[in-house]
Formats: sequence, C-alpha cells, structure tokens
Amino acid sequence: MLFAPSEEHEAVRRRIRELAEKEFRPRAAAYDESGEFPHENLKLLVEGGFIGMNLPEDYGGAGLDTLSHTICVEEIARCCAATAVAFEVHNTLHSETIAHFGTEEQKRIYLTALAAGERIGAFCLTEPGAGSDAGAVKTTAKLSPDGGTYVIEGQKCFITNGGVADLYLVFAMTDPSKGSKGLTCFIVEKGMPGLSFGKPENKMGIRASHTTDVFLDQVPVPAANRLGNEGDGFKIAMSALDAGRIGIAAQAIGIAQAAYEASVIYAKERVQFGKPIAELQAIQWMIADMATDIAAARLLLYRAAELYEQPGRHTAEIAMAKLKCAEVAMRHTVKAVQIHGGYGYMREYGVERLMRDAKITEIYEGTSEIMRVIIAASALR
Ligand SMILES: Cc1cc2nc3c(=O)[nH]c(=O)nc-3n(C[C@H](O)[C@H](O)[C@H](O)COP(=O)(O)OP(=O)(O)OC[C@H]3O[C@@H](n4cnc5c(N)ncnc54)[C@H](O)[C@@H]3O)c2cc1C
Repeated sequence: MLFAPSEEHEAVRRRIRELAEKEFRPRAAAYDESGEFPHENLKLLVEGGFIGMNLPEDYGGAGLDTLSHTICVEEIARCCAATAVAFEVHNTLHSETIAHFGTEEQKRIYLTALAAGERIGAFCLTEPGAGSDAGAVKTTAKLSPDGGTYVIEGQKCFITNGGVADLYLVFAMTDPSKGSKGLTCFIVEKGMPGLSFGKPENKMGIRASHTTDVFLDQVPVPAANRLGNEGDGFKIAMSALDAGRIGIAAQAIGIAQAAYEASVIYAKERVQFGKPIAELQAIQWMIADMATDIAAARLLLYRAAELYEQPGRHTAEIAMAKLKCAEVAMRHTVKAVQIHGGYGYMREYGVERLMRDAKITEIYEGTSEIMRVIIAASALR
C-alpha cells in the first residue's frame, strides 16, 4: 500500500494550486480585512471547471471523485480559507445532496445550473435553538389543502453563503410530533415571497465567507421542491454532512499546511543569537510536530474521501478525519504564530489569520465534541 494520491489526483492538485497561488493568495488578506464576499474567486472557480467538479456528467458536472474534490478544497484553503468554505458548501452540502436525493426533474432544473455555477447553493439546518441538536428544528412546513404548496415559517441562523446563494436547502418540520423523523428538506429559491436574509455576521475568521440569518415568513414553496419524502429530512441532512465534513477536514488541512510552510520559511530567515531560529531545537521540534501531525491527519482525510465512495455509511471514519484535521489545524496555527514571535501577532504576516480561520473547523458541520460523540457511539456499539 502506497497511501498516496494517483498521478491524476496530483494533476488536479497542480491545476488548482496554480489558480489559488496566482489569484487567491494575493487577495486573501484584503478579503479578510473587508469581509467582502470573494465573488471574483468563485467566478474563477466556475471558469476553471472546479464548481460542479464532483457532480454527475449527465447534469454538466465533471464527475470527478471525492478525493479530487478534497484536494481542491485543501489547496483553496491553503491560500484562502473563506473561499474554500463557500466552494465546499456549494459543491457538497447543497449540490451533491440534490444529486443524491433529487428527482429527475429537480436535477434537470437545479443541478445543471449549480454544476455550471449559474446558481450558488446554501444549506439551512441550524436555528437559534437547534445547533448540535439538529432534531430540535422549530421551522415548520405546512402543506396546503390542495397538496400543491408547502408554507414554510421559521428562522435559520449561521448560514454560509446566506444572501449570496440563489438556492437554499431548508430543513423544516412537516410533523413536529415525530421529532427528527418529522423533518423534511425543501429547495427554496431566492426571490420566493417571504424569504429574506440578515446582515453578514462579523466573524473571527473566514471573514469573507458570508454567514447570515435566513428568515422564512410564510414562504410558499411548490410541493415539487420537496427533496425526498416527508420525514426524510434528518437522513438527508446527516448524509449531506458526511460529505460536508470531508470538505471541512480538507479546509483544516489546507490551513494547517499554510501555517507549516510559513513557519519553515520564517524559521530559516529569522536570525536571533547570531543564527537562524531554525537552528534552535525548540523551533525544530515545533516544525517536526507540525509536519508529523499534518501528514497523519491528511492520511485520515484521504481515507475518509475514499471510504465515502464505498457502499454504506462511513460516518465515524469521516468524523475521525474531521476531528483530527480540525484539531491539528488549530494546534499548529497557534504554533505558527509562536514561531513568528511578535511578528506573528501582526496582521501583515498572515499567520494570525490562519489561526483565526482554523478555529471554525472545530465548530461547524458538527463540533469536535459531537465528532467524539459519533466516534464513541460507533466504538461502543
Ligand atoms: C461561520 C459559521 C458557518 C456556519 N454555516 C452553517 C451552514 O451553512 N448551515 C448550517 O445549517 N449551519 C451552519 N453553521 C452552524 C454550525 O454548524 C453550528 O454552529 C454548530 O453545529 C454548533 O451548534 P451551536 O453553535 O448551536 O452550538 P451548541 O450546539 O449550542 O454547542 C455549544 C457547546 O456545547 C457542546 N455540545 C452540544 N451538544 C453536545 C453533546 N451532545 N455532547 C457534548 N458536547 C455538546 C458543543 O460541542 C459546544 O462546545 C455555521 C456556524 C458558523 C459559526
């Protein structure tokens, strides 16, 4: 066993790295500072064929495998973590979910536009009272007497691509008495009456990715926009999160890799006590731990990406990858700031941004505590 991506996968990496290095890295600090959504980067990802790369060829996607997509998220995050999450949520949480659960008509109408990047997607599960406990959703969807329309009422919060996206997968209770078994998923279009958005949140990190409230005030949604059957929502959300968590793990590894590379360069350049700090054992050990942890976490990530394509669910193995990659990113971005000393604390060196960006990977698409709950449940089954 080689545990290495194939030549085809490395070719994908070279292509996305070239784009991310040339276009995303130089703009990342300015996007972080302004909090402006990186429309320009998304446009380049559309033009490069990366948007929709994981979607079926029959609907205009490139039909590439999960490992190729994982490598792309990793390389985008290595240069701009905010762009990586906007990309990841569109391609996996939103579009791939329609690819898996949509009817032929839904795929023809929505998936082709998503694969072409003509429409951007978002995923709306979280609510003010339903975070880790996704089954506690209060948003409701009531079917009209003629069976033609659902009316959705409620509020979602912390929605990535909120306001920017054209299409929203909204999870709402069609039968609140059944708890999580009463949850149903709908494709809601921007422009439908009663759908509105809050102001972008002022965040610690991934500042250029837009995160907003989504308000649903008696939004009439055609019954044809229901994804799956009534009551399938929880199953659909958990399946979507399997794919999404691989993406977040990849985002984390990209951030960690950037912190490692910056630390190696700085350690060789910075002279104290008459020699580069790279010659100090204290620094060497931090670099050695970074290199080792990133390599180990990346193996778990690539294993998860490959397992995802195998039959059955691999939720625990995916949770392991997300947990490990997020914690490695957090630990080693802090170390990168340490290696940079006082300069690391300054915005212009960029490693403090990596530290701020890393934190979210331990929180969204399931916190590290929830990842441990999933892994323990599988281990103790
Ligand atoms: C920037 C950003 C973008 C996001 N994007 C999206 C999006 O696009 N779509 C979407 O639907 N959601 C999104 N989210 C929401 C995100 O997934 C939730 O914030 C996350 O799942 C945690 O939920 P919570 O914030 O309500 O925390 P809570 O669930 O309230 O957790 C608070 C603390 O309690 C711990 N905890 C809770 N339950 C348990 C338990 N059973 N065992 C052990 N510990 C527990 C948690 O780990 C955490 O430490 C986003 C969030 C952020 C910050």
